[in-house]
Amino acid sequence: MFLSVFDVFKIGIGPSSSHTMGPMSAANRFLELILSSDWPRPTGAHVAALKVSLHGSLAFTGIGHGTGRAVILGLVGEMPNKVDPDRMDEIIAEVERAGRVAPPGHPAYEFQPKTDLIFDKKQPLPGHANGMSFSAFDRDGRLLLKRIYYSIGGGFVVTDTELEAMRAPKKSAGDARIPYPFATAKQMLDMARGSGLTIAQMKRANEETKMGTAELDAGLDSIWEAMSSCIDRGLKVDGIMPGGLKVKRRARAIHDKLNEEWRSNRLNPLLANDWLSVYAMAVNEENAGGGRVVTAPTNGAAGVIPATVRYYLHFHDDATRADIHNFLLTAAAIGGIIKHNASISGAEVGCQGEVGSAAAMAAAGLAAVMGGSPEQIENAAEIALEHHLGMTCDPIAGLVQVPCIERNALGAVKAVTAASLALKGDGTHFVPLDACIETMRQTGNDMSEKYKETSTGGLAVNVVEC
Ligand code: SF4
Repeated sequence: MFLSVFDVFKIGIGPSSSHTMGPMSAANRFLELILSSDWPRPTGAHVAALKVSLHGSLAFTGIGHGTGRAVILGLVGEMPNKVDPDRMDEIIAEVERAGRVAPPGHPAYEFQPKTDLIFDKKQPLPGHANGMSFSAFDRDGRLLLKRIYYSIGGGFVVTDTELEAMRAPKKSAGDARIPYPFATAKQMLDMARGSGLTIAQMKRANEETKMGTAELDAGLDSIWEAMSSCIDRGLKVDGIMPGGLKVKRRARAIHDKLNEEWRSNRLNPLLANDWLSVYAMAVNEENAGGGRVVTAPTNGAAGVIPATVRYYLHFHDDATRADIHNFLLTAAAIGGIIKHNASISGAEVGCQGEVGSAAAMAAAGLAAVMGGSPEQIENAAEIALEHHLGMTCDPIAGLVQVPCIERNALGAVKAVTAASLALKGDGTHFVPLDACIETMRQTGNDMSEKYKETSTGGLAVNVVEC
């Protein structure tokens, strides 16, 4: 099993990796398919018009998550890592005005968002809660091409065939070039004991089968740079977040107060918690505002890991660039195991899969840079995940604001506490991480659909929107 650190941490835009980045990428994939020869194109047929339907969780919470906007942007050829957040409104308004999209390298296609983009709440698609259907028609309205895509969390998009292949029992041992192909936490610990390497060193060796050391380090620097800039932007901006809930941004005001306390040397027993929380909230307020963020492992949970890294840098003067790399590599190793054996998608397993996974990854990363053994790191991840088990996904009005923003703050606090508890032990503990991940998967399967990013249960129906 190999999931690159650059698959886990992807630079993109808010507010949701599964409901914004994934649908934009799906639209990109459909455009590529139109130009390719991978479908039986009738002789002389030309694509003239497009239609898209969104299903399941994408239909229920797509408006709040900006899914329709993401599809439109994807159909004009914009990509999550390149689109300029400041130009998005203008691009969408132009498509609505013209009733067509004209992606680079393509002719213009008719596409009127009001009628050609359907939020279908009645018919979920069978493969996954986040289903999308893209169709292309000729000038006479004949269907030429149709593809189903699923946004499976963290910005990953697969076709129905790819999803089936992912779920089929694995017949091969995977890529033979990967020196440490751990698919479970137990295998990871066995390989660490056998090799004498840390988790970060094994993950690095796996990554370096795909790229050189300098390229890997530069990529890790870019990820941290994007995370850190997101915190900085979030700490500077005030105002009301978009979407109609009228939720105020709070990170800047809290940050100002913390800076004042810091300068005056006033003793604050909650100091570390407050800094962790404000860093996480800054990221998730940026995310809610549709700004540039990094999936970690999703957008909804994007604040936990950056907040924990920034907290570490804040309180450890001797922190180095190598620490940041080791943090990210260790966190990605844990995220890969969780994704492989359960899910990081709120629409599939609830928020335990998003903020719970992010907290497990952050706890592992922090334990690693604080000198933890592989067993202590696995213990830290397990503690953090265990205490998110059962957490539902019930964003009010389908917006990634309430409870998501504060939830990231609390996820970061739990991650640091979990790392600290694990570092005080010797790594032996009662519940193995693999058992905890399997519990999360089963709990997610048993969870009512109401609590899986549909905004039809929980807080989403018990708080009056004003
Ligand atoms: S409640 Fe959790 S899983 Fe659901 S949208 Fe918010 S952060 Fe994501």
